[in-house]
This record gives sequence, structure tokens and C-alpha cells, in this order.
Amino acid sequence: MAANAGGSGLSVKLLVSYCMLARFGTPQLVLPYRSKKMPRTRAQRRATQGPLGGLNDDALRRVLTFLSVADSRRSAGGASKAMRGVATSNELTRLRGSESYVLRGSDHGVIHALATALGTQPWRRVSFDFPSGGIISSRSINDVRMPPSRLRITSHREMDPEVWESRLRLYPHLRTDEVFAFQAIDRDSIRAFVTSAECTLNPGTFAEFQLPFQLQISSFSLGHGPCCATGFQDWVFEAFDGERWHVIYECGESPWLPRDFRPNVDGPPRYFHIDATGVASSRFRLRILPKVAEHGPPNSLRCFHIRALEFFGTVLPPWSV
Ligand SMILES: [Zn+2]
Repeated sequence: MAANAGGSGLSVKLLVSYCMLARFGTPQLVLPYRSKKMPRTRAQRRATQGPLGGLNDDALRRVLTFLSVADSRRSAGGASKAMRGVATSNELTRLRGSESYVLRGSDHGVIHALATALGTQPWRRVSFDFPSGGIISSRSINDVRMPPSRLRITSHREMDPEVWESRLRLYPHLRTDEVFAFQAIDRDSIRAFVTSAECTLNPGTFAEFQLPFQLQISSFSLGHGPCCATGFQDWVFEAFDGERWHVIYECGESPWLPRDFRPNVDGPPRYFHIDATGVASSRFRLRILPKVAEHGPPNSLRCFHIRALEFFGTVLPPWSV
């Protein structure tokens, strides 16, 4: 497109003109010499601050600004076609990735974005059999969401020797828990998607979730499998700053009271707001603490059947689809 010729994005001169066009809609104001004058309006001031300055997070306004004057003056169909061309261009994709991306709403967060290429593809689903441990050696799971490949999920289980020695003798496959990543992000609650590998664990057990970019996190959501959800007490949510972990949310009482859900059905997702402003990290983790006195002995065993995990906030650049 003419507006993007030169390979370095829009010139400031053209951008000023388009901003004015978008604001006033009067072709007379689209005059090149205006860019040589001092900015007079707030939009002009913002426009001089950089090729994407002053457009905030309004995606439509951004795309309109990238449309050439000629394309803007075509018929509605022509302008629409040109807009689509700009919206799907590699250049706009590259430029958007150099700025923050705000995830709006409480349904679709970062994990959804990673799994669906920012909503442009369906979430891939798979079916498989898995060793559940316990009496039933194998369970089948159908049509379950695939963890996004760019989300690195690792878990560390503090196993109580008294409980686990005999259990591992009987069910050696529980040493590795290959379904945890599937369980953690699964959102379809009515299913027996529980392994005993996450049952009866000691404090110090944690699961880490590493994103391919920095996230300025504002909240996260979490569900829990039906097994011992009411006992999911005394845990923290932490962010890594490059040197050490910081607690950014601490939970004492279980978010799932017995009245909240039916037996054998997952504890529904709860939303947890992060008060600390400006917390940005690519690594987050959930960690089980020793129990406080009123909840029981410090080393009380707990279940860790994480479900429906999602993070919300602003994706910081650089990021890509
Ligand atoms: Zn359990």
C-alpha cells in the first residue's frame, strides 16, 4: 500500500493527516503542510510521538489510520476490502506485536490466546486414555483441550513417603504425571478427569506456568477437581521477577465451600484479582503452603487438582501470534 511504502511504517506526516481525517472527516484538512506546523490538538500531539502514538487500544481506529487516503475515499465496499487487507497484513501484525495487547473480558485470557492464536483458530482437542491410579487403572478422556505448546507447564510434587511408597509400588506410572497439563487448563467440568498423582501431597508442592512473553497480570482464574476441593487451603500465587519469586496473591480459606458444587463435579472457576499494580512476569506459579494452625497440622496433606487455569491482563511487547 502507498501508505506503508518505505518499509518503516507510516511517515509522521501521513499519520497526522489521517488522524485529522478520522477525527474531523473533512478532506480539506488533509494537507501535507500541516505536519510541518506545531501540533495543536491532543491527537496531533500524540501523533507526533511515534508511528503508533495516540491510538490507545482501539483496534478499529488503528486500522483506519493505516488506510491510505485513496482507499478511504473509495466506496464502502472498496474501503472495507482495503481495510481487511491492512488488518491482515504482516506489517500491521508486526507493529501490533511491538506494543502492549490488552486482554479484555473474563472469559478469554492468555492461555486461550495462546491456544487459539489470539482467537484466530479453534482450540485443538484430543482424546486419550490415561492411568488414573487407584482401583481404576485407566480412564478415557474424549475431546479434551490441548495445552498450548507455547505455555510451559511444570509441576513439582512433594510426596509424603508414608503415603506414596506403597502407592508407587502399586502404580509406578504415577511417578510421572503426564496429564497434569491437560487437567490444569481443562474447562469442561463434568468429567472424571482426576488422577491420584495429585492427591495427598505435602506443602511445597507447586506448578509453574511459563508464558512466551511478559504479562502484566491483573487477575487469574482457577477451578479445582471435586476431590478435596474444600481442603484447598493455604496456598499462594507467585510471579518471578528474574531473580526471585514474589507472592502476589495469598489464599487462606478454600475458595470452594461444600455448598458450591455437587459431588463428583469440579469446583467452578473462581476469579482472583491481583492488587499489586505493574506486576509483570512471564513465569507464575501456584504453591501449597504449610497449613495455618486453625486449618490443621502444618504438614497436612492436600489435593492439587488444578482446573480451568487462566491469566488475564496486558501482554507486553514483543509478542507474536
Ligand atoms: Zn485428590
